[in-house]
Amino acid sequence: SIRGCLANTEPDHGTNLTRVGEEFYRNPQFRRNVQARLEGNEWVLKGQKSAWISGGSIATHAFISGGVDPSEGLKGGSFFFCPLDLDGVTCGKPLEKVGQRDLNQGEIYLDDVRIPENYLLVDVDALIPTQAVFGAYAYSNMGSLATGLARAAFEEALEYAKIRVQGGKPIIEHASIKQRLFRMFSKIETSRAISRLAMQATSNFYDTELMTIPLIEYGAISKVTCTRAAYEVADEAVQILGSNGLAREYITEKLFRDARATLIEDGMNEMQ
Ligand SMILES: Cc1cc2nc3c(=O)[nH]c(=O)nc-3n(C[C@H](O)[C@H](O)[C@H](O)COP(=O)(O)OP(=O)(O)OC[C@H]3O[C@@H](n4cnc5c(N)ncnc54)[C@H](O)[C@@H]3O)c2cc1C
Repeated sequence: SIRGCLANTEPDHGTNLTRVGEEFYRNPQFRRNVQARLEGNEWVLKGQKSAWISGGSIATHAFISGGVDPSEGLKGGSFFFCPLDLDGVTCGKPLEKVGQRDLNQGEIYLDDVRIPENYLLVDVDALIPTQAVFGAYAYSNMGSLATGLARAAFEEALEYAKIRVQGGKPIIEHASIKQRLFRMFSKIETSRAISRLAMQATSNFYDTELMTIPLIEYGAISKVTCTRAAYEVADEAVQILGSNGLAREYITEKLFRDARATLIEDGMNEMQ
């Protein structure tokens, strides 16, 4: 079976790779950790991707970035198609992390890995626009994922509030619990509306007549708004379950940990 991964983040370059408008991005002193050189009709890849590549230790193929023109600094990069069973490829062991533990992550090491010349998929000139578009796709999907996560946390809290009795009645009958559930619900519905707009923009991307809102901006709005909402809703769900919210026996603690990761995953929220 084939399993892909997007290998962009490097040990020295996380957010850096997204700051395409800043001066340092074009400064030759900033060198990508993976470099590619053309030898005859083959690209030779050398360097390391960070431990945060989703699927990095189990993927069969990578869409991987590397520097091809160091005189342009980080801007002088391209994306390649790279099978991961080639000589010189080593994948790291799965990373242990606080949330989204079921999403595998690991490094990819490249030691003079040779790929055909036509495995270059995005050249230097196309790098920035291509990155913006697949970033927007990733953001839109993150918005949807976060909305689903928030809804799951809300449902857990709602069900618990119906059965947990304190003060002589189910806690859902206390006005403050109802208000807290309502605030969670309104955040989810706001997320749902925004994430749908962003997903609509991604599906209309190739049809200029249907494309009524800017994909990149709405993708970023969706990612930031929905992941923040998911984190807040999951946090409140833990709180409504009381100490049980922290127990492994209930899924709320997992949803909370997973939500925390979404604020960083696919780009730091505060850097959008
Ligand atoms: C669950 C998960 C899945 C991921 N999957 C992938 C994947 O599949 N492929 C992939 O390539 N990467 C992946 N990543 C990596 C992710 O894209 C990076 O972690 C993210 O871009 C941030 O980079 P960093 O961790 O190096 O943080 P850094 O960039 O080092 O940021 C550290 C801190 O510095 C701040 N900062 C950074 N630059 C600036 C600046 N210019 N001005 C002000 N403040 C700044 C940030 O806001 C942050 O608070 C994943 C990450 C996670 C958590």
